[in-house]
Amino acid sequence: MQREKMLGNTSGIISGSSGVVKLTHGFGLFTPARSVAQRAAASTISMEATGPVCVVTGGSRGLGRSISLALASEGCRVVVNYASSAAAAEAVVEECKKLGGDGIAVQADMSKMDGIKTLFKATAEAYDEPVGVLVNNAGITRDTLAMRMKEKQWTDVIDTNLNGVFFATQAAQKVMMKARKGRIINIASVVGKIGNVGQANYAAAKAGVIGMTMTMAKECAPRGITVNSIAPGFIESDMTAELPTEIVEQVTKGIPAGRFGKPEEVAGLVKYLALDPSALYITGHCINIDGGIAIGTC
Ligand code: NAP
Repeated sequence: MQREKMLGNTSGIISGSSGVVKLTHGFGLFTPARSVAQRAAASTISMEATGPVCVVTGGSRGLGRSISLALASEGCRVVVNYASSAAAAEAVVEECKKLGGDGIAVQADMSKMDGIKTLFKATAEAYDEPVGVLVNNAGITRDTLAMRMKEKQWTDVIDTNLNGVFFATQAAQKVMMKARKGRIINIASVVGKIGNVGQANYAAAKAGVIGMTMTMAKECAPRGITVNSIAPGFIESDMTAELPTEIVEQVTKGIPAGRFGKPEEVAGLVKYLALDPSALYITGHCINIDGGIAIGTC
């Protein structure tokens, strides 16, 4: 049965209901789902999807889109954040519902404190369970050689890829600490471990994320919260579609697997860290998913 309610006055939110949950997620320590009657009384957002509330920053395209769909396919309620691609984000939400999850799309700029506040306010208004999973995925590149890099190219990347991750994590931590459960997954990059010509800003941000992950994991572990990062190598997305053909050919020669990765492969790893019961004992790690490009270096 479809039951829908337009949400209050938070801009950029799309409400909706979902299909049937396919399986019980392995979120272990989360509170049991409320009864249908209880949920009907409280909200009309999601009548069937009872999986954890998952915030995916930059969920409208690329890796974030695949991550949103992978979580929704396990019955999660996914908050699909985006910067400007409203139609793409709304399409992801619709796909989430078809997969048996639920979702809302929230426009919010992760490089700004106001955007982060908007995202978590919208999430709290949409779902009355606390955020269970945060995937810090939103990211940008502004590549150029360090000696030519303008201040804005540096600060834009640091603001989005590092500061945004810290402040979103801080916001999620507040509710997760109270709930004494939660999983935080930061999408870093192998570039944060091994560097890359033209990406001093990006490498600094991603290395920062990896260090921050270890610290936050130590701070959060006593409260049952895991914090991990993932370091993709080269993955097919709009971000890598910008690379010139000769660079793609050159890079591919250096990947032992002989190909770029697929967003769905990264999403599978995120899903494991976010939902699998056995992942509750994995924290503070940065897991490469890179076709072997960084073997022996980190
Ligand atoms: P993408 O295709 O360019 O998508 C980027 C996503 O981030 C979009 O949903 C975009 O929203 C969102 N976004 C960008 N700036 C934002 C902001 N200020 N606030 C909110 N959302 C914002 O990138 P991708 O390749 O999927 O990359 C996703 C993550 O994986 C990034 O952190 C990236 O650094 C990391 N990564 C990617 C690769 C790769 O090879 N692709 C490798 C290693 C790591 P809009 O659609 O609204 O613009």
